[in-house]
Amino acid sequence: MTRPTPGDPSPPRCSSSSAAPLERIVIVGASAAGIVAAETLRREGFPGVITMIGEETSPPYDRPPLSKQILSSDWDADRLLLRTPEQFAGLDLDLHLSTRATALDTQNRVVRTAAGPALGYDALIIATGVRPRKLPGHPAHVLRTVDDALRLRERLIPGCRLVVVGAGFLGAEATAVARSLGCEVTLLEPAPVPLAHAVSEPIGRILSEAHREHGVDLRTGVSVAAVTAQGVTLSDGTTIEADEVLVAIGSHPNTEWLQGSGLTLTDGILCDQYCAAIPAALTDPASPAAASPAGGVVDLAVYAAGDVARWYNPLFGVTMRIEHRTNAAEQGMAAARNLLHPGAGKPFTPVPYFWSDQYDMKIHAYGYLRDHDQVEIVDGSLADRRFLAVYRKNDRLVGALAVGMPPKALRPWRQHIASAATWTDAVPMSVSPGASTSVPVSGSPTASSGPPVSPVDTLVKESS
Ligand SMILES: Cc1cc2nc3c(=O)[nH]c(=O)nc-3n(C[C@H](O)[C@H](O)[C@H](O)COP(=O)(O)OP(=O)(O)OC[C@H]3O[C@@H](n4cnc5c(N)ncnc54)[C@H](O)[C@@H]3O)c2cc1C
Repeated sequence: MTRPTPGDPSPPRCSSSSAAPLERIVIVGASAAGIVAAETLRREGFPGVITMIGEETSPPYDRPPLSKQILSSDWDADRLLLRTPEQFAGLDLDLHLSTRATALDTQNRVVRTAAGPALGYDALIIATGVRPRKLPGHPAHVLRTVDDALRLRERLIPGCRLVVVGAGFLGAEATAVARSLGCEVTLLEPAPVPLAHAVSEPIGRILSEAHREHGVDLRTGVSVAAVTAQGVTLSDGTTIEADEVLVAIGSHPNTEWLQGSGLTLTDGILCDQYCAAIPAALTDPASPAAASPAGGVVDLAVYAAGDVARWYNPLFGVTMRIEHRTNAAEQGMAAARNLLHPGAGKPFTPVPYFWSDQYDMKIHAYGYLRDHDQVEIVDGSLADRRFLAVYRKNDRLVGALAVGMPPKALRPWRQHIASAATWTDAVPMSVSPGASTSVPVSGSPTASSGPPVSPVDTLVKESS
């Protein structure tokens, strides 16, 4: 199938999948991206069979509250469900929960599963997310599923000595909750400044000071060699005793089951700007048919969405894989629409959005902060931990982050980012005189020198 290339407004499209009627669409992954994909297919009028395959036992539930309201016991687990049973039933799904997809045959358009029969498809959406990285040694807590959160919550009793490995957003949120529950927390981070790779060194420093103020033993520049029955052992041989250990050091995209399928698997499933998977043959530089993800060329009738998808975002001109809740839903919708209307596909060009709650701090961010050249405080002050920062890359405004500000404070900046505003156009227009303070970015975002990243500790992970 031929897809539009950038700059070609109305290219002809001839698609093997669009020629054949779509009767059965399979979605692998029953979570935030998968459920929105299914809803979009129905909303757009798809009358055929939608098969949804999910490894977990539960219908789709929300993960951000796991490290917040669930860990703190403010919520019961039944509040996590993303849809009511009635809404879910209304989608009329051929639902296979507790079922793992084990292989994909793109030639014959079949998904194989661990237990049941092979499932044929006319088109496929993959939304299998990520799973936590682990450390060698004794089993430790991780935080990805509701069971993980409930298991950890049970152990967070007052006086419990908790070691958290990784001071990304996930580790920071769990640390804040554990302190509020009366635990003694040691937070270990390999980088000199937590979150510097994600939000800049000065802002990372300000955010991490909150831990020390709340009595956390934050140790930076340390790396953990192994988890033991007594706690953890650092690379220099030091041991830290703990009752519980939480490992929050990043994630792996769930793509192992796609080995040999012909998809391009490079830190996620490589997709074009329409969220359509790009065949491996076309990304092999030695292949005469090698394609850039910007162009997208051949239809495998396979789309990807959410944490597992690495797609080309023309707004920023790079491929990116985003582990954010809002992106999962938006991309589930985009993938489903583009799958149904291949002749009228729309590039998926979101401004990534992320939020985090730590102690009394509400953090919100829009855009593409990684590898920025400059960060500027345009409202409030770092010292008060109430500020709005904007990020520059070359001559573009690429991101904005607010701490302790109402969400509406960020909206104009989101608009500027969405319209690809230049730095010089956007920043002077919006900054009140005297409010702007440039903060140095030395030592900030370097993908190579940074620590392993936790599921939500990068605003984007990208490669150009
Ligand atoms: C503790 C925690 C806190 C978070 N907090 C925030 C936050 O504050 N803000 C924010 O923006 N984002 C946050 N996130 C990230 C957000 O939850 C994710 O971006 C979102 O859940 C991604 O949705 P998804 O559908 O792509 O993947 P997932 O939610 O990971 O779902 C993938 C599903 O696919 C299933 N699966 C995997 N492999 C297979 C297979 N082979 N066969 C069948 N099923 C399979 C998995 O079991 C899983 O159910 C947080 C995540 C966690 C874990």
